[in-house]
Amino acid sequence: MSRTDLVALADRYDAVIVGGGITGAGILREAVRTGARVLLVEQGDFASGTSSWSSKLVHGGLRYLKNGQWRLTLESVRERQRLLDEAPGLVEPLTFLMPLYEGVKPGRATMRLGLWLYDRMAGQSASRWLARDELLQREPDVRQSGLLGAMQYLDARTDDARLVLRLMLESVAAGGVALNYVQATLRSEGGRVVGVTLQDRLAGQTREIAAGVVINAGGAWAGDLPGAPAGAPRLRPLRGSHFVFPAQRLPLKQAVSWLHPRDRRPIFAYPWEGAVVYGTTDLDHGETLDAPQMIAGEAEYLIEGLTHQFPQLGLKARDAVSTYAGVRPVVDGGKDDPSAESRESAMWSAPGLVSITGGKLTTFRVTARQVLREAARQLPMLAPLAEQAVFADAAALNPAQQRLFGRLGADAASQLLAGSATSELALIPGSPYAWAELRWAARRERVCHLDDLLMRRTRLGLVLPGGARDILPQVQAICAEELGWDEAHWRFESARYLDHWQRRHAPPVA
Ligand SMILES: Cc1cc2nc3c(=O)[nH]c(=O)nc-3n(C[C@H](O)[C@H](O)[C@H](O)COP(=O)(O)OP(=O)(O)OC[C@H]3O[C@@H](n4cnc5c(N)ncnc54)[C@H](O)[C@@H]3O)c2cc1C
Repeated sequence: MSRTDLVALADRYDAVIVGGGITGAGILREAVRTGARVLLVEQGDFASGTSSWSSKLVHGGLRYLKNGQWRLTLESVRERQRLLDEAPGLVEPLTFLMPLYEGVKPGRATMRLGLWLYDRMAGQSASRWLARDELLQREPDVRQSGLLGAMQYLDARTDDARLVLRLMLESVAAGGVALNYVQATLRSEGGRVVGVTLQDRLAGQTREIAAGVVINAGGAWAGDLPGAPAGAPRLRPLRGSHFVFPAQRLPLKQAVSWLHPRDRRPIFAYPWEGAVVYGTTDLDHGETLDAPQMIAGEAEYLIEGLTHQFPQLGLKARDAVSTYAGVRPVVDGGKDDPSAESRESAMWSAPGLVSITGGKLTTFRVTARQVLREAARQLPMLAPLAEQAVFADAAALNPAQQRLFGRLGADAASQLLAGSATSELALIPGSPYAWAELRWAARRERVCHLDDLLMRRTRLGLVLPGGARDILPQVQAICAEELGWDEAHWRFESARYLDHWQRRHAPPVA
């Protein structure tokens, strides 16, 4: 699927969605189902805002339960269960172990009670107590002194960027229009938002488009949408950073979660895409929203937490394969502790405009439906239809192919398997990705820059050393064939990518 030109757009859409993260993609999916003509624009690549830099958990949020946020937990647990059913291979069950220690809170009784509730909300009974020996058999590297055992419970993990991509591409197949690298500014007449001015950030063209209603799904940027009337709540951007470690250095078979010794915040590490993700922090983000990165203090904090739980591994920041940071769009509730701020979404409206921010990856469907109900007060045709599976066709006949079906959708995965040379179905060494996935993404998934391909369509830049530097010659050949990049274009793209990787994703040298 190639990138659409602004010239090819209609003059008017029923709804124009600004923002191509999970929130915008979820709204697009639900809005297209109503039969409305819908356009989504994203100023960078799809999911390049916060939605590719999350902890990648599709979870109820045990922490929200602890804070008494029952509705948020219940909603999240239910969505987790639905996504596990609807998106196998993309949203996968993940076992968590929380080791408990003598004289350290929370104790076993508190954890049991919390997890009992968590299970009840999901209509399952997945949690149980694991004796010390059984825990050490499963995760021999956890700190042993004072160890009593662990509580085991179930949540889920995903590839956040792929979740967005799949929603986006399937919505486009169902009749929606979605453009990356297009920035929107609002246009108003007589106090009403009547449309957008779009600027293609690659080609430089601009175009005015009329809209029945504009939906601002700009995440952490939502409060500053150019041209928006006053009335946005004050947002408090909170940065969260993660390390990605090679599985050989942090060899976990499931997720382990524990409290950081410094501030008792929950932190966790778990296997993901052949590596191990470890995080996260929760700090006020004072810098520009466009290129968040882990700072030295966060690296120290995270390594301190890791050393506390896995002392014998002796891990240092420089052992990581990469890092990443994202900014949570959180509404400012004036709390001293950033982690005490609510993670619920916030919605506000003006004539011709509905804005949404905050919320979670996990609950994108609930958010999308709330937004459309609000938008329908201004344009009744946008009222959401009866609930339906977001991905109806993900089941692969062959369980070994489930991952590909989940990540790409059944149609795309079947075409990829049928059309690829056997040699390209081999996995790229050190990763769970086939060469054919790279070629498919380059050919069909609106790749404009090299980081689109290596950081979001695939996550090779996060899980292979040096941002996947060693495979760049093969990637160059694929980009030449599929995207027509000549030598000069490749030199530009590879230099741009490596610079971007070095600034935003290289592990600290300490
Ligand atoms: C560290 C961290 C960990 C997290 N972990 C989890 C987790 O494990 N599970 C979970 O459920 N949630 C998690 N979250 C929350 C979740 O990631 C976010 O709530 C979600 O990704 C926000 O999605 P969004 O679409 O609203 O924002 P974004 O993904 O940021 O999308 C908004 C987009 O709007 C675009 N945009 C803004 N202005 C314009 C404009 N004028 N024109 C065009 N485009 C524009 C931006 O470029 C951006 O891409 C986490 C968040 C963080 C930061």
